[in-house]
Amino acid sequence: MINHLITQKNWQTQLSEAITSVDELLSILQLESMRAEVYVPKHFELRVPRGFVAKMAIGDRNDPLLKQVLPDQQEQINVTGYVADPLSENTQNPVKGLLHKYQSRVLLTITGACAIHCRYCFRQHFDYSANMPTADAKENIINYINANPEVNEVILSGGDPLNVTNRRLFSWLDTLESLPQITTIRLHTRLPLVIPARLDAALLERLSRSRCHIVMVIHCNHANEIDALTAEYLQRARAAGVTLLNQAVLLKGVNDTLNAQVQLSQRLFASGVLPYYLHVLDKVAGAAHFDSSEQAAIELYWSLLASLPGYLVPKLVRELPNRPFKVPIDIYSNS
Ligand SMILES: *Cc1c(COP(=O)(O)O)cnc(C)c1O
Ligand code: SF4
Repeated sequence: MINHLITQKNWQTQLSEAITSVDELLSILQLESMRAEVYVPKHFELRVPRGFVAKMAIGDRNDPLLKQVLPDQQEQINVTGYVADPLSENTQNPVKGLLHKYQSRVLLTITGACAIHCRYCFRQHFDYSANMPTADAKENIINYINANPEVNEVILSGGDPLNVTNRRLFSWLDTLESLPQITTIRLHTRLPLVIPARLDAALLERLSRSRCHIVMVIHCNHANEIDALTAEYLQRARAAGVTLLNQAVLLKGVNDTLNAQVQLSQRLFASGVLPYYLHVLDKVAGAAHFDSSEQAAIELYWSLLASLPGYLVPKLVRELPNRPFKVPIDIYSNS
């Protein structure tokens, strides 16, 4: 019932009522006994909307959704090889807010804010204020795209690009659709899992009448993130003509088992979403405790290949700073 009330509120209310207090989160989940093990971070604070918490199991300290958001003391440990900017993105912005690493597509950061703070996030130390599009951004971005005719796709990213109002988002869509060379607009977003109501009627209506292909790559790591209401919203997006794909991060203790991966792919498919990428963890400072060995990832992947139809097996990839594509993991390598 409480769950029902929370998720019926409009998305902006749900966004503003997100939990930022460790004590409140532990109290809701009846996990006060964990208090001494939990860390209260200053820079990348706890942040989780109540509807996402409602998908967690009460009293389960190992809940796979809780693990993604609860700050762990291990974050404070310095581990060799784990750095603030593992993809060197701070140095690859031709125009503020724009990343052009891959031949035919550019990635545009339209906000630094997220509805949820994922503890493994590779952008957790990113200086958004220095890289956000400024007032003259649209003009600079249009000029850049015009000067690079090989670009036919723009990826709206962040932060989370659905964290902005429809008005701001539609204004970006209008701008991008006005460029004849752009055929596809993509949104990389975790909001459909965190606050499904973000896929509101006005947004879906706007996407359905775009002259471009609209691709939404959601970010779901565990089948429990997709309850009945979430699945319903995803199906609505699909009915609006949006191509739905998923990218997940392989996370130790969250989704690093065959069962978790099979359930995830099947639940996505039942909601109209196809698996796209399974990323091995980017080596960002504070996230080492989520990393599993590449050999373990490869073994898991062989089992996935043996368990699922090909269209439900995501591509297992690693992002490297100087490669113009996500690099497939070599599953024939032996270490
Ligand atoms: C991931 C990414 C893309 C998109 O890659 P696809 O393989 O097309 O999904 C584009 N630009 C940057 C900078 C990226 O990190
Ligand atoms: S929603 Fe995406 S960008 Fe935001 S904290 Fe989570 S992983 Fe990072």
